[in-house]
Amino acid sequence: MDFPLNSLGLTHAFLAARVRPGDFCIDATAGNGHDTAFLCSLVGDTGRVLAFDIQPQAVENTNALLAQLGYAAIGKAIQCSHDRLAEYAAPGTVDAICFNFGWLPGGDHSIFTTPATSLPAIDAALTALRPGGALSLCLYYGGRSGYAERDAILAHLEQLDNRRYTVMVTRFANRTGDVPIPVFIVKEN
Ligand code: SAM
Repeated sequence: MDFPLNSLGLTHAFLAARVRPGDFCIDATAGNGHDTAFLCSLVGDTGRVLAFDIQPQAVENTNALLAQLGYAAIGKAIQCSHDRLAEYAAPGTVDAICFNFGWLPGGDHSIFTTPATSLPAIDAALTALRPGGALSLCLYYGGRSGYAERDAILAHLEQLDNRRYTVMVTRFANRTGDVPIPVFIVKEN
């Protein structure tokens, strides 16, 4: 697979390196379903992907994309906030989880992810991952969503126990503007 050297491409490359056929994955921010579909392509017919979004439009778009691509038996989006992830995945049972923060592309820009639910959702995701499991975060910021979520998440990640989690935050040194930040986390034990 070829991955562009941008934030989304890097998170996809990270997920592709770690997800195997038959895995159980979660897309915590379904949006238009591109990441959910990508995870479905990695886990294949024997795997499962569950996607969360609070907006009915996003759930509809994601499930329509999955049906169009022939992934309806593998993946499913539900209307639910990602901080309720523990209700859908027992501790230590998920192989990989991705978050793509911000607003629904092509949708209402006044509805976006916020730290009040993002931080508990990240913690719930870390609990749900199996040892060796992978978590990718693509931090969009700026515009109407501002910088509070980015700053709160980055501060939160610095507090994670380094014996349990390897956390990598990537920065594009010479790109200008509000370039999304890819974050890669592996649960070590
Ligand atoms: N991964 C998506 C794709 O491939 O199109 C893009 C995701 S978009 C940047 C962020 C999404 O997060 C929006 O659709 C938004 O509705 C959703 N969102 C906002 N708050 C949320 C929450 N508490 N739980 C789950 N999703 C949420």
